[in-house]
Amino acid sequence: MTKLVNDPADFPRELVEGFVAAHPQYVRAVPGGVARATRTPQGKTAIIVGGGTGHYPAFMGWVGQGMADGAVCGNIFSSPSASQAVSVAKSVDRGGGIIIALGNYAGDVLHFGAAVEQLRAEGIDARTLVLTDDIASAPPEQKEKRRGIGGFVPVYKIIGAAAEEGMDPDEIERVFTKANDRTRTLGVAFSGCTLPGADKPLFDVPEGRLALGLGVHGEPGIAEMDLGTAAEVGRLLVTELLKERPADADGRVVALLNGLGTAKYEELFVTWRDVKAALEAAGVQVVDQIVGELVTSLDMGGVSLTLTWVDDELERLWRAPVDTPGLRFGTVDPAGLLSEEERAVADARADEIPQADEASRGAARRVVAALEDVRAQLEKEADELGRLDAVAGDGDHGIGMVRGATAALGAAREAYDAGAGLATTLARAGQRWSDEAGGTSGALWGGMILAAAGALSDTGQTSLADTARAVRSAVDALRRLGGAELGDKTMLDVLAPFADAFEREVERGATSREAWSVGAVVARDAADSTAQLRPRIGRARPLAERSVGHPDPGAVSAAVVVRTAATALQRD
Ligand code: ADP
Ligand code: MG
Repeated sequence: MTKLVNDPADFPRELVEGFVAAHPQYVRAVPGGVARATRTPQGKTAIIVGGGTGHYPAFMGWVGQGMADGAVCGNIFSSPSASQAVSVAKSVDRGGGIIIALGNYAGDVLHFGAAVEQLRAEGIDARTLVLTDDIASAPPEQKEKRRGIGGFVPVYKIIGAAAEEGMDPDEIERVFTKANDRTRTLGVAFSGCTLPGADKPLFDVPEGRLALGLGVHGEPGIAEMDLGTAAEVGRLLVTELLKERPADADGRVVALLNGLGTAKYEELFVTWRDVKAALEAAGVQVVDQIVGELVTSLDMGGVSLTLTWVDDELERLWRAPVDTPGLRFGTVDPAGLLSEEERAVADARADEIPQADEASRGAARRVVAALEDVRAQLEKEADELGRLDAVAGDGDHGIGMVRGATAALGAAREAYDAGAGLATTLARAGQRWSDEAGGTSGALWGGMILAAAGALSDTGQTSLADTARAVRSAVDALRRLGGAELGDKTMLDVLAPFADAFEREVERGATSREAWSVGAVVARDAADSTAQLRPRIGRARPLAERSVGHPDPGAVSAAVVVRTAATALQRD
């Protein structure tokens, strides 16, 4: 249980502020997270790490010489936004490209992916690299579906060293891919963790049992069994990891025995003794190891073992000196703190509105006008949307949509007035929608708008095909973020057929007016048809029966948004 808390809502922000105050020699606060307080050479590729907070020293604890340049800090266990990632990236950009390294979590993939799109739209060489080391999360033939856990430490350390050596983004990506392919982690959990302010854990593991492969946020594991001795747990981890020894490994590993939050160092040392013996008995040569708490989940009980099967290059990069709050070894030549002036320059860059041309500014203006209409129309329909949501939900859908659209409009106007083009205007709108709307639909609409922004640009004309691609990205994001299937009775049942119809129209060579009007009709009919469905996801599911005969509120509001935007975008 987290006991030292002020207002739980402020906890994520306050922990980052306190961390910066504790480590002024390493980090400075920037919008969206933290960045190195020390100088980096012009032309260096910047490594950005990040994700939800609550995993210290992952991720902000690794900002410093030899590892990351910046960390994007989300809320506890929840992904930061794309604009946070963009601002951290810009505050450390030295013209050598940006790499955003992340674990394979849906929200991080979405938001960091959108951030990369935004950075690229501004001419910055940016890419994401996705860690997939947890062998419990998918079978070996689906390695790309695995999530990132303890492997953050060796892999980020290795690419941090590669960037420090002066490798370019392509070379760093090559090293990342090799390190990720050769890194495997397996964890066991003994008890769940409790979010600050909550009175019960996020998930439970029964007393005296262990959950094999349980994820750091309670994602399902492989099996549950009796908790044995330290030696038994250690051997279990080693046995499972050695089943996936890479074919080209020569037997050298760097190992991390990691406590997930409440394992004691004494317990970790006892277990390490047994793990090391088991590895050596299997002919594995441990060239280096870390035993400690490096990737945690608040007060979760448990341990994980990570093995990186190194070759000469990976071993050299692993051993290179590193100096961060959360990981330090070797002797680093101190780079010196940024001067006040250098900081001011970097901070100004972080908040900058990217250059836009006239064509994209025109499109941004039309988007602002469309948002004005959407907001006004949602306000007119808010009571009805609330009534629909009260049938089987909590009645807040109308209020939530109006709040989201109002916030988004405010952000879009601000961005437009400051000179933003289409992508940036939409991105700021999406960001603000998810920040302020509240509710499931707010996060989903914000995510969709950000994803659409990621598919668009701040320069050049926006073709109808570009618009279709942006719509497609938005709907893909909705599926990924919400996890709903067609027929679950959600807004997806409107937006998926709308995207299909819009795309079909564009492919057959329709005009913008035709594509939008066909799309709007399809959306309205699809919204009506949700009346027959039974909710299978979201807040309405427990009262599913009651909902039959009434359309889904999120589906109806989606059709309203589509219809209003269609009309507004045709006006000029
Ligand atoms: P909440 O359910 O948190 O109160 P709202 O009332 O604002 O949020 O929105 C409810 C609507 O959100 C639903 O009518 C449905 O269309 C949509 N929704 C809920 N969960 C999902 C999901 N997982 N994927 C897609 N849409 C969803
Ligand atoms: Mg609701």
